[in-house]
Amino acid sequence: MKRSVIILLALVPLIFSGLETASAGAPKTKEAKYVFFFIGDGMGLQQVTLTETYLAYEKGVKGRELLNFSKFPVTGLVSTYSANADITCSAAAGTAMSTGYKTKNNMIGMDPDTNRLESITYKIHRKDIPVGIISTVTLDHATPSAFYAKYKDRKGYYEIARQLPESGFEFFGGGGFVYPAGKDKNQPDIYNLMQQKGYKIVRGLDNLPEGKIQGKLALFQESGKEGELPYAIDRSKEDLTLRDIVKSAIGHLNGKRGFFIMAEGGKIDWAAHSNDSRTAILEITDFAGAIEIAYNFYLEHPDETLIIVTSDHDTGGLGLGTRDGSSNFNLGALRPVISSFAADSSSRNAIDTLNKTTGLGWTTDGHTSSDVIIYSIGAGSSLFSGKMDNTDIPRRILKAMNIVF
Ligand SMILES: [Zn+2]
Repeated sequence: MKRSVIILLALVPLIFSGLETASAGAPKTKEAKYVFFFIGDGMGLQQVTLTETYLAYEKGVKGRELLNFSKFPVTGLVSTYSANADITCSAAAGTAMSTGYKTKNNMIGMDPDTNRLESITYKIHRKDIPVGIISTVTLDHATPSAFYAKYKDRKGYYEIARQLPESGFEFFGGGGFVYPAGKDKNQPDIYNLMQQKGYKIVRGLDNLPEGKIQGKLALFQESGKEGELPYAIDRSKEDLTLRDIVKSAIGHLNGKRGFFIMAEGGKIDWAAHSNDSRTAILEITDFAGAIEIAYNFYLEHPDETLIIVTSDHDTGGLGLGTRDGSSNFNLGALRPVISSFAADSSSRNAIDTLNKTTGLGWTTDGHTSSDVIIYSIGAGSSLFSGKMDNTDIPRRILKAMNIVF
């Protein structure tokens, strides 16, 4: 018998006894203290694949240049249908992911019979854990509002926004509001209501004071640029980015109690509605840029940080290949596109021609019922593997945080 084998045999009892001890007195995995929940609105798997293929193309290689979240160790599949439709809207999907219950399309934080549902953000907040809600679109839009508001119709922008100052959540950031003073501009101004509830409102990153701000903070675009953040492709230097806002949120919320941050890349969906391939690619790359900030935080607190990245639904039904296309995309055709296409019918022909030339086949300008991917890393991430429903996500987030659903 060779010496190495003898040594190995001698070690066998040790190995097994080690295993026994490990399983008997297994140290409980740490609960997730710092939680990042990233939602790429409308970000279907095919768009992620297109983005990664495009990034490889830009590097001059065939294949994929993986986005950071694609490298996360745990992945799963999420079904997205709503209570009344095969194809969900962002309101019903947002409600499913914030409350753990299905509702009808267009409803926020309520079940199909308009019974009020509770977002996990409130359950988390009652544990004295600070909450931050971030979006690149206005904060009264479907996804962010599902995490603080309840309303029977997602288009009740003002009625939804009125509930934001009442939430008491420590951080809001992103686009402002569709109707800050109501549709007829005769209602109390939401920004004033926020100030009355103790929010410090900062407009533009340059106006963010040095050091920690006491109390609640809201970060918006600089004055004169209220509303959603521009697309990454159209951005100027002064514009606020999702990455900036996530960074500010961490700075503001980080403390002994941990935090929960929901951050939405809201305009991936808008670009996909337009079938605007290059704008969608840059929007997804930008979304990954914000996730990088969370990932850097995770590297500092790997045992206590959970990052989840998913989507509320696929938009556009992108087909990576067309009936009469070749086996290779012509991605060079997208390169000259340096600004987003206008979201109107005048752009339709130009967009269709460009996609055909590129070899991409978008099937719809609406949403689809395709499953979306959930990517995760860190404390409790093993809960997010395999096939699940969107209503499972908030339940599992609370489990990872050791909070009762
Ligand atoms: Zn949409």
